[in-house]
Amino acid sequence: MTYTEIKEKEKKKYYYRAKSIRKGKKIEKQRVYLGANLSKQELLEKEKEADKKLQEGISKKPENYPQTEKTEKHPSVSQKKAFFKISKEKNFSGWYTEIVKSAELGDVRYNVKGFIVFQPWSVLAMEKMYYYLEQVLQKKGHSPYWFPTVIPEENFKKEASHVQGFSPNVFWLKEIGGEKLALRPTSETAFYQMFSLWIRSYKDLPFKTYQRANVFRYETKATRPFLRSREFHWIETHCAHDTEENAMKQVREDMETTKEVLHDIFCLPFMFFERPSWDKFPGAHRTFAADVLNPDGKVVQQPSTHLLNQNFAKAFNVKFKDKDGEEKYCYITCYGPAISRIFASVIAVHGDDKGLRFPWKIAPLQVIIIPITQDKQVIDEVEKIKAELEKNKINCKIDFSDMRPGEKFYFWEMKGVPIRIELGKQEIKNKKITIYRRDKDERKIFSRDKLISEVQRLAEDIDKTLTKQADSLFENKIIDAENKQEIKEVIEAGKIARCGFCSVEKQGEKCAGVIEKDIRAFVRGTKLDKEVPKGKTSKCAICNKKAKNVVYIARSY
Ligand SMILES: [Zn+2]
Repeated sequence: MTYTEIKEKEKKKYYYRAKSIRKGKKIEKQRVYLGANLSKQELLEKEKEADKKLQEGISKKPENYPQTEKTEKHPSVSQKKAFFKISKEKNFSGWYTEIVKSAELGDVRYNVKGFIVFQPWSVLAMEKMYYYLEQVLQKKGHSPYWFPTVIPEENFKKEASHVQGFSPNVFWLKEIGGEKLALRPTSETAFYQMFSLWIRSYKDLPFKTYQRANVFRYETKATRPFLRSREFHWIETHCAHDTEENAMKQVREDMETTKEVLHDIFCLPFMFFERPSWDKFPGAHRTFAADVLNPDGKVVQQPSTHLLNQNFAKAFNVKFKDKDGEEKYCYITCYGPAISRIFASVIAVHGDDKGLRFPWKIAPLQVIIIPITQDKQVIDEVEKIKAELEKNKINCKIDFSDMRPGEKFYFWEMKGVPIRIELGKQEIKNKKITIYRRDKDERKIFSRDKLISEVQRLAEDIDKTLTKQADSLFENKIIDAENKQEIKEVIEAGKIARCGFCSVEKQGEKCAGVIEKDIRAFVRGTKLDKEVPKGKTSKCAICNKKAKNVVYIARSY
């Protein structure tokens, strides 16, 4: 007999498919976890899969079957059946879609196209990401602001290339009180309006601000959860300076901040490029952007920092009185790390075939504790462990749900929790503790009194491993190419092509167009420390003219 059980907990419905088997006098029940809050259609599909598993016999003996101390065993990995197992390497796109759904990161079923609901497991991680980034910004002298979400059309129109670049992507609100308002796609035109009222003298400079905000862009490209949606969550910094030199120093500081946070805390590797003139931020003098390499060989643009120079200052009349008594226009910079988009890279870069893998500092949950049996002795001990961990500021939880231990293991592995502690009567008797680390998919037994020191040591080591693995994504990925055919081969092998290019100014756009059309790849730009074209890169790989620049070409999201 096969039937579906529904358990409700914290307003959620958990589904199990179960079968009872008579063994002599005993009735054993075998259960397969189907998922939470499933739609009718999903439930039907999951039931079919589960029936297959039940037919094969999920295990000889259910692990939650009452056990004597002698036979108490931790479920071994081979006994378990995963409910998430997709090859990330073979089918990255399918993997991404499924993990967003299985780990309950974002619900795409919200009934406005291009908008998703961010669910707790992603919000908890992104809150931490915000925290680290804001800490670094504040330490570097940025003050937090909360600006209005709406920007009047009048502000928007003040900087010509800005309005031209953003207009197609603006959500306009119906006229309210005779005014046409935009939902902010970015807030330059809101901030600088106020800068003109706040900044008076050279003593006010540098004037460093930031805000955490959601912004709205009418994306016409296909949307994907976290990666590209019509509403996303970010931080934007806006700074005013006295000279171009000091503004450029700010741009470098933004790049350093990106390294300190994205690389050193989120464990993400990236390369900074100066974007070619046709790919600059609308209204910017120079644009620098970090590209993170995705496991499928495509790059994802992450934080970008822009030297706006005096373009916006002139449009918004942002002036200061200098030491010499003269009134001058400020030099403005802005920087935009998009937290929800960076989260897409955290999913994509660190995840594996079993699901998510979170770096320690931004994990929504750092340690999951699994009692192997429900004896009082075991329950008392796991409560004690939880209290000890919490005393040491480690974010943890005990899984008392009625899934079998094996299912719990897989569930939290899929969710990417960095450390799991397993505890049964055996451990208590031997004064030991079993610790599993998600990064290496490895479990080891430690002495019980080493609990805190081992968890702390592992926490550091987990981030080191994830960083090392992620950094290796870039290894051997950059290949020199001399002509279109070679670029094509490099790109199709999922790598980044480096080649000579006639120009990153307007004249080069035609050659970039050829690459876009024939290879479906993009000129990402030049390195900040400009490389001199020579040897294989001495000529433009497309038009064969003498190369002025060395550029990097990749497919992108
Ligand atoms: Zn060319």
